[in-house]
Amino acid sequence: MAQKDYYDILGVSHDASEDDIKKAYRELTKKYHPDVNHEPGAEEKFKEINEAYEVLSDPNKKAQYDQFGSAGANAGAGGFGQGFSGFNNFNGNTQFTSSGDFDDFEDILNSFFGNGSSSQRSSGPRQKKGSDLEYRVHLKFEDAIFGKNVDVSYDRMDRCPTCHGNGAKPGTEPQQCTNCHGSGFIVQQVQSLFGVQQTRRVCPTCHGSGQIIKEKCTTCSGRGITRQKNTITVQIPKGIDNGQQLVKEGAGNAGPLNGAYGSLYVDVDISSSTKYKRKNYDLYSEETINYAQAVLGDKVKVDTVYGPGEMTIPAGTQPNTVMKIKGKGVPHLNSSGIGNQYVTLKIEVPRKLNEKQKKALLNYVEAMGENKPNDDNSFFSRMRERFDL
Ligand SMILES: [Zn+2]
Ligand SMILES: [Zn+2]
Repeated sequence: MAQKDYYDILGVSHDASEDDIKKAYRELTKKYHPDVNHEPGAEEKFKEINEAYEVLSDPNKKAQYDQFGSAGANAGAGGFGQGFSGFNNFNGNTQFTSSGDFDDFEDILNSFFGNGSSSQRSSGPRQKKGSDLEYRVHLKFEDAIFGKNVDVSYDRMDRCPTCHGNGAKPGTEPQQCTNCHGSGFIVQQVQSLFGVQQTRRVCPTCHGSGQIIKEKCTTCSGRGITRQKNTITVQIPKGIDNGQQLVKEGAGNAGPLNGAYGSLYVDVDISSSTKYKRKNYDLYSEETINYAQAVLGDKVKVDTVYGPGEMTIPAGTQPNTVMKIKGKGVPHLNSSGIGNQYVTLKIEVPRKLNEKQKKALLNYVEAMGENKPNDDNSFFSRMRERFDL
């Protein structure tokens, strides 16, 4: 699926305020509403605008989009993968179902159809979307680097198995609401200074569902939903970091009476490692070498998250020198890039020497003193005196 820039679609900048986004959305909706714009492609555009607004008007979804953006949209190409479609599913059923958008849309319709024309309404009875849920997954340090499929089990409100979500006792059917004739709203015409003004409000009898349930299902008390266990597989993408959140559309609670499903927000909690510290996509570790290796140089083994490797220590390496191992860090969440590993070299000072080692070291001291002036305060003179060299 092609990647969509929701900011582009609404014609706003990435730092646009909530008000700016709302304003842009209103303007565009008026322009492209299928009831008024019959140009080819207008309907497509209208859907796209709603899709963009659905995300950018919801602080959670917006943050998710800002962070993962194309990862969500590139589901098949190593992003969140199958079943983790991120922001692909905003078309269709979620369009006018969340109450916030619906209210906005009512305002727009009110300002728009002030002339009394009621022939072409696009939105039907109101169905409440189910609420979102949150779940926390705990991952090992390496899981966040290599990715992992995690099975997640939780309770949620789901369609009632007895009435299949319509809330009516088996053998009976919900009846059309006689107050609003099934439309879910009441239309009133008001004479105003500027002519006949038309307003709509949610039907108080059926609360917008357009239906009346005479004999309620006893399993769900007529709500159409019951608490049930749900198990899904969450694909943890490579490179995810602590505190990041994944969204699984449709895995939240079901709305009452066959309303749409909310989303499941999965918070990622990653254990720390004793060996590595992670900073964005880079890893930091320490290796200890001895004094001779630092002075003379050596090839040493080094641990990486991908397995043991080798590192060349140049002669004359100073304490706390940081060596870079290219490409042994964390894979980028949303591209083929990969971070580096930075190894800080610690130089071990022997705590105890045997006689032979001590002699060797004193020989070294003597050798180092050969081109130093032989004054009594020098380190070399003091060593000579102390150890009778
Ligand atoms: Zn039921
Ligand atoms: Zn009604």
